[in-house]
Amino acid sequence: MLSLTNQKFIQQCIAPDCGAEFDLDARLFVCSRCGGLLDIERREKIDSAPLRELWRQRRTSLDPRDRSGVWRFREFLPFTEDTEVVSLGEGNTPLYDAPRSADYCRLPQLKLKHQGCNPTGSFKDTGMTAGVTQARKLGARLVVCASTGNTAASLAAYAARADLMCAIVVPSGHVSHAKLAQALDYGAKVFEVDGNFDTCMDQIRELAEDESVYLVNSINPFRIEGQKTVAFELAEQLEWRVPDHLVVPGGNLGNSSAFGKGFRELFETGLIDRQPKITVVQAEGAAPFARFYSDIEHERFVNDEHPQTLASAIKIGAPVSWPKAWRAVQETDGSVITVTEQEIADAKAIIGRDGVGCEPASATTVAGIRKLRINENESVVAVLTGHVLKDTDYVIKYHNGSLVAPDGRHLTPTFANVPIRIQSVKSVADLLR
Ligand SMILES: [Zn+2]
Repeated sequence: MLSLTNQKFIQQCIAPDCGAEFDLDARLFVCSRCGGLLDIERREKIDSAPLRELWRQRRTSLDPRDRSGVWRFREFLPFTEDTEVVSLGEGNTPLYDAPRSADYCRLPQLKLKHQGCNPTGSFKDTGMTAGVTQARKLGARLVVCASTGNTAASLAAYAARADLMCAIVVPSGHVSHAKLAQALDYGAKVFEVDGNFDTCMDQIRELAEDESVYLVNSINPFRIEGQKTVAFELAEQLEWRVPDHLVVPGGNLGNSSAFGKGFRELFETGLIDRQPKITVVQAEGAAPFARFYSDIEHERFVNDEHPQTLASAIKIGAPVSWPKAWRAVQETDGSVITVTEQEIADAKAIIGRDGVGCEPASATTVAGIRKLRINENESVVAVLTGHVLKDTDYVIKYHNGSLVAPDGRHLTPTFANVPIRIQSVKSVADLLR
C-alpha cells in the first residue's frame, strides 16, 4: 500500500497574471484576489511507476473506495488516506464499441464511453463524490447547486448519503421529469425560479455567502478533481493507449475542463505518452464557446442571453468553466463545433440502434463526429454524459414525429420507430417476415 499522508495539494488561481495560491481547505469557489477559477494542484512529484499495477489490483478488492471508479485512483485526488469518502460506487462505466454509430460517422470504428451508467444516470456523480466528500470534511451544514437537472439529481443523492441538507435551484419548467423526480426522491429541497440556468446560478452564488453553506456547482474545483478520473479510467480501459480524438458535449464545460486536466496529469507523470485532441460539441442555439473558438482573436467571451436547445443538459448560455475548457482545447489542439437540433435527434436514434441509450445532450458527440473530418485511421472516443431514461419524453416525441425544435420547426423522425397496434399475433408474424 502506498502511503498518502505525505501528499500536498493547494488551490491555485488559473489566471496567468494572478496565480494566487490558497490552502486546500480554504472555503473558496473562485480566487479571492481576482475572481478567477481555481485549480487544485499537487506540490510534490508522484512516483508513477507502481500505480498502474496498484490500480489494477484494487479492482479485485472489496474496500468501497476500490470499488469506486473515482477513489480507485485516489493518489491523484486531494484527500488523505483517512478521509471518510461519500461514495455510491460511481465510475467504472463501460466503453462500448459502436459499429452503427461508426458507420453513421463514416468511420471504421468508434467507441462510446457511457458516463450515463453512473449511479444517478449521469457523469455528474464522478465529480459529486469528491465535492460532497469535501463538503463534509469542511463541516458544511447545507450543500447547494444550480442545475439543469443532472447536477440536481446527483447532488441530492450524495447529500443524502452524507446526511447533509441539500438545496437545489432549477429553472422552472425546464428540467426533465425524470431528473426532477430523482432530486425529490433523494430528499433535496428543490426551488424553482423563473428564468434559465444562468439565472439560477446567480441566485445560488448569493446563498453560498453563508459560512455553513457549501456550493457544489461545476465551478467547484473538487468536483473537477473527481471528474478528471474518468480520463484515468478511460486510459486504463484502452491499455494506456489514448485515442487520437476525445469528443465531449459542451454545456457548462466542466466535462471538457476535467478531461483536459486528467489527461494532462497522466501525461505529465508519464502514465500516457500523448494527450487526445479534445473536441467540444455544442448545440447551435446554445454555443457561446463555439463562437469564442471561431473568433480568430479569442479575446472576448460573449455569453448567450437566451440559450435554446431541446438538449436541456447543455442549455447554458454563460458557462462558468469556459477558461478551463479553453485551456484543454488549446493544450490538446482540439476544436469546438456546433450541431443542429435535427443532427442531435438523428444521432441519438443511431446511438440507440447500437443498443446504447443516452440523453439528447450526449448525442451532440456522434452528430459532431459525423461533421468532423476525421481520418479513418484515427481512433475516436465519444463521451456520453447521461442515460436515455433521463429524458424519455424527447425519445417518444422523436419517434412519433412530434418533436418540435425551439424555433418552432418540427424535426424529421429520420430513424422513426413507432409502436404498432395489432389485433392478433398472426399479424406480428407477417410484419416481421
Ligand atoms: Zn486570481
